[in-house]
Amino acid sequence: MGKISVICQGLTCADCSAKIEREVAKLPMVESAIWHMMQSRLDMVTDASEEELLPAVKEVVAKYEPDVTVLSMQEAAAHSHPHVAHTHGDGCEGHGCSCHAAHNSALQAQQQEETEEKAAQKKLFLRFVVGIALFLLSLTQTDTLKAVLLVGAYLIFGYDVLLRAVRNCFKGQVFDENFLMSLSTIGAFFIDQWTEAVFVMLFYQLGEAFQDHAVARSRKSIRALMDIRPDTAHLVTEDGVRSVSPEEVAVGDVIMVKAGEKIPLDGTVLEGNALLDTAALTGESLPVAVQEGSEVLSGSLNQDGVLRIRVEKTFAASAVMQILEMVEHAAEKKSETERFITRFARVYTPAVVVAAVLLAFVPTLLGMGPFTQWLNRALIFLVVSCPCALVLSVPLSYFAGIGAASAKGILIKGGNGIDRLAQVDTVVLDKTGTLTEGTFRVIKVSAQDQTEMLTLAAAGEAVSTHPIAKAIVRYYQQNIAQTLPKAEDVHEIGGYGIVYGTGEDRVLLGNARLMEKEGIAYDMVQENGTVVHVAKGSRYLGYLLVADQIRAESAQALQELRKRGVKQIVMLTGDREETAAEVANTLGLDAYHAQLLPQGKVAAMEKILEKGDQTVAFVGDGINDAPVLATADVGVAMGAIGTDAAIEAADVVLMQDDLRKLAEGIRISVKTKRIVHQNIVFALGVKAAVLLLGAVGLANLWLAVFADVGVAVLAVLNAMRKK
Ligand code: ADP
Ligand code: MG
Repeated sequence: MGKISVICQGLTCADCSAKIEREVAKLPMVESAIWHMMQSRLDMVTDASEEELLPAVKEVVAKYEPDVTVLSMQEAAAHSHPHVAHTHGDGCEGHGCSCHAAHNSALQAQQQEETEEKAAQKKLFLRFVVGIALFLLSLTQTDTLKAVLLVGAYLIFGYDVLLRAVRNCFKGQVFDENFLMSLSTIGAFFIDQWTEAVFVMLFYQLGEAFQDHAVARSRKSIRALMDIRPDTAHLVTEDGVRSVSPEEVAVGDVIMVKAGEKIPLDGTVLEGNALLDTAALTGESLPVAVQEGSEVLSGSLNQDGVLRIRVEKTFAASAVMQILEMVEHAAEKKSETERFITRFARVYTPAVVVAAVLLAFVPTLLGMGPFTQWLNRALIFLVVSCPCALVLSVPLSYFAGIGAASAKGILIKGGNGIDRLAQVDTVVLDKTGTLTEGTFRVIKVSAQDQTEMLTLAAAGEAVSTHPIAKAIVRYYQQNIAQTLPKAEDVHEIGGYGIVYGTGEDRVLLGNARLMEKEGIAYDMVQENGTVVHVAKGSRYLGYLLVADQIRAESAQALQELRKRGVKQIVMLTGDREETAAEVANTLGLDAYHAQLLPQGKVAAMEKILEKGDQTVAFVGDGINDAPVLATADVGVAMGAIGTDAAIEAADVVLMQDDLRKLAEGIRISVKTKRIVHQNIVFALGVKAAVLLLGAVGLANLWLAVFADVGVAVLAVLNAMRKK
């Protein structure tokens, strides 16, 4: 089973795309299919090859939307960048490369859609002008001429709908919305509601145009995000600087970034000073100053100065590609509500149509009044039989929420993430790197032979990425020597520390628990901070005291979380009791659990989850806590210092490591959910009311067209409201 995606260029009808998605999923070779409205992309899990699959998919799409072009990802990419296929040749199966194709194709599809949209708008505008003119003219006329003018206006507004209806009818698409609209307007002519017929068609077309426009606008906002993808890197080689595609740059290579250019890959500055605009990554508009030794992320814009950067990550692993990948897949985890609406839409239309048919004939047969009266009521049903307002506005609301969050440096993975984030009432946090800076400093060295102890410690910690390890290594380099001593056979034991070497040369670096485990007598340390004891063989050498600082924004962040309805804030840490208690007191946490081993953190989390009546978010950086992140209802990763595993496991990534953004993310999610609910209640409410009023003869076609088009437009406007 593999995953194959195609781009459906020009597919904006929410209802048709749901049908296409369903029908493609029913193809014998397809296991499942998911349509991503905002990306114009259909993802399929299949055991077929692309050559087998594509014609079948094209056939399904043509059945519902003959004007839509189905392109394979390669086709779509080749369209926009013929050179991609050319330079990479056939051997290009790599991760980075296929992504490249995917992004370009989405880009291309959107660009083409935009020009097509403009042309379509112009044509539509012209039709409206002519149609309205004919209608106004008809007001001054009587009898035959009036009738001709009205029919003319009707045809100008609706000829394409009528054509599609006839065409789809031959293909067996009876519940198709074109067919239903045609039927209801032609029906209106029959019961002598000519003006209504003309205007129902006009409003229907206006509503469709507006919805297309809304979808196009949202797709454009994705493209703005895609724009952060860098195209070239200036590779510094022995014989000069060469411009290459970022995929070709390896870890350890040196690249040059000039003023005004985007940094193409993650790395460390070797030379130069510059101000970086990181807005695309973090949503933060203040530029960040970088100099030699600073870590820089791809996707940030070099505002001034020239930088030489040692590349630390491949392009595929770099921040910018991570973000793009996340955005691409943002819609993948559809929310419960989105799935409900799709299911609902499937039964809604047939149910209303059947009701309309019954309404037209049954009462007449029972002799309850003239046929035209009941036909009139049935037509009202047909006009409101399309669930467009819901089918489009629900995913659009979620997408707008995800977009608003990502503009602020909060990446929420899918509608699912929004749903759960909106419900969070318990926040569990990791201490190191989340509540505290995560950059430790050595504040005390206690040993008889400090150099010996520091050398042994630095050798072991050199292999670790733990913030404590980095502090010790830095201290050694600043005070003893630049080059680090070597250690053999190093083992990092999560929650304890580091052990390396054998026999009498065996070195232990870690907390009191490690010393106890190994049966070594150690000093009791009262001072504040995290203690790293050092022992060699069975000999205790002394300890280092390292301290971390509570983040400046932590207190405010917790306050804001409480304001957003978080009832309980709990800290989990592997650090010792004293340090944990101090942090918990300073920040006013509801509870804390200290001295936890990595698996202990999972157990503590499971215990909190066991209560079952709350929605729990866990915030961590992924160092010793990625499994906890995956266990929580909502995993939140600190993006900048976070490990790849954390970012992968998380439902929400805070690009800036700023906890306040979690409160902001909750606010946006709550608001998004509220909009989704408003739209559902409003759309269903109005439709139900009009159906009821229609059945008893209290509604007319004007009200029906409002319930259909007016509601759709209002719902879409509501969906796109500022978050
Ligand atoms: P936290 O919950 O504070 O992020 P960790 O689980 O990362 O804690 O680590 C717990 C404890 O284990 C640390 O406070 C430290 O005492 C010890 N420890 C972990 N890794 C190391 C290391 N590389 N060197 C020394 N001590 C370590
Ligand atoms: Mg940690």
